[in-house]
Amino acid sequence: MNRTSPVYNLNEPLIFEQSSPGKAAYSLPPLDVEDTPVEEILEPGLIRQEIRGFPEVSEVEIIRHYTRMSTWNYHIDLGMYPLGSCTMKYNPRLNERTARMPRIAMVHPMQEAALSQGNLKLIHRLQECLQELTGLDAVTLQPAAGSQGEMVGILMVRAHHEAQQRQRRYVLIPDSAHGTNPASAAIAGYQVVSIPSDSSGRIDIRVLRERMNQDVACLMLTNPNTLGIFESRIEEISRIVHDQGGLIYMDGANFNALMGYARPGDMGIDVLHLNLHKTFSTPHGGGGPGCGAVACRDLLAPYLPSPVIERDGSGYRANPDRPHSVGPVHAFHGNFGMMVRALTYILTCGGSGLKQITETAVLNANYIRARLQEYFHLPYPTPSMHEAVFSDKTLEPFGVKTLDVAKQLIDEGFHPPTIYFPLIVRGAMMIEPTESESKAELDAFVDAMIRIYHRAREDADAAHEAPRLAKRTRLDETRAARRPVLRWTPEEEA
Ligand SMILES: *Cc1c(COP(=O)(O)O)cnc(C)c1O
Repeated sequence: MNRTSPVYNLNEPLIFEQSSPGKAAYSLPPLDVEDTPVEEILEPGLIRQEIRGFPEVSEVEIIRHYTRMSTWNYHIDLGMYPLGSCTMKYNPRLNERTARMPRIAMVHPMQEAALSQGNLKLIHRLQECLQELTGLDAVTLQPAAGSQGEMVGILMVRAHHEAQQRQRRYVLIPDSAHGTNPASAAIAGYQVVSIPSDSSGRIDIRVLRERMNQDVACLMLTNPNTLGIFESRIEEISRIVHDQGGLIYMDGANFNALMGYARPGDMGIDVLHLNLHKTFSTPHGGGGPGCGAVACRDLLAPYLPSPVIERDGSGYRANPDRPHSVGPVHAFHGNFGMMVRALTYILTCGGSGLKQITETAVLNANYIRARLQEYFHLPYPTPSMHEAVFSDKTLEPFGVKTLDVAKQLIDEGFHPPTIYFPLIVRGAMMIEPTESESKAELDAFVDAMIRIYHRAREDADAAHEAPRLAKRTRLDETRAARRPVLRWTPEEEA
């Protein structure tokens, strides 16, 4: 191993390989009482036997091992993260400060309402902010993710139709939708009917008219959609659906393209989810605690998950007494720490700041679109909102594909964009810079993409070999997904 090489950290051995017998991460002073064998104090069942293959290392070895491995991660504090649809924006440090304030962080959710008024007020204030931003009447912050918010929204739609004594069977979903949309509809017991996109990348209204009828519970629409395109005929769409007694669910994951400029409530949307970890700058956290707020019209408010946080005289309370609710979907109020962070973000930016965020997110996406369109194919000519979707068509003559572009970006020091999604674009590269990035960072990214384009023409083999500088080079991804090896045992090593 070459200790002076920049990839030295990448060659960190397994901790098992660094083990040597007798090493420990602690040292205790010599005993000053009589030594009593553990068997005399504890029952045999309570005494841990030797763990086979357990690594024995010193404190400094443990610390260095994990610190070195932590440097393998790409993260938003290291550089741009252009994952389309995921909205990987910077997580401001101020959010972390407020979320860690002991009076906010240490309150137990079962503490009496009289003793947690401040925290309840905080939740209520965030609900109000989201109502104002969406133009809708009520909000729950209980769902832990956007996908869970979708499920809650569709269950509320179902509860509404059941209350009308009219069970409907179908949910209409455009073919550009995120995979969680049909999954949520199916979990709620609906059959999914797909609506194609037209040549501008928007929902085909002619087909929507044909497929909309009184057996359709709702249209599930992403706006702007996953091509980064605004559904400009949203009012007409909403009339078509409402005329047949259906509702409109909006996937609001891309709300950073609208915030402060357009309100879904004004577009005829009945219910939507927002991803606080996208638009409102809370951490994405690898499947960890998140918040997929759901906002709805008064019509659907009785079905919101319990409890809801509401005003109680001059104070606030969590009201569990809601007979029509779809029920709780998370312990207590949801992931409170995320609400603190999101509210901090909203209040720090203020109304004009939130508008500026939207402007910058859209400007940044269009800047990338304008600078790259000479090199990479744009399947839809429609201007972008918060993200731009390219395809690998211009690289086809050289035998270079989207996957090769993504892997080369790793060697260029960038996280790859979202690839092969949306499914309706062959070889899709979906790039969302967010408002966090400066022009210098955007230019560095674009320059890397242009280098990759030229390399495809000049040296396709090099493109196929990337990444060369990463911990692992090109993997057999299918095999890694189907036959993952997740456990290390000393026998396998031998
Ligand atoms: C991220 C995303 C979702 C799912 O949200 P999670 O919080 O990841 O569960 C749904 N729809 C779209 C368009 C998204 O981008």
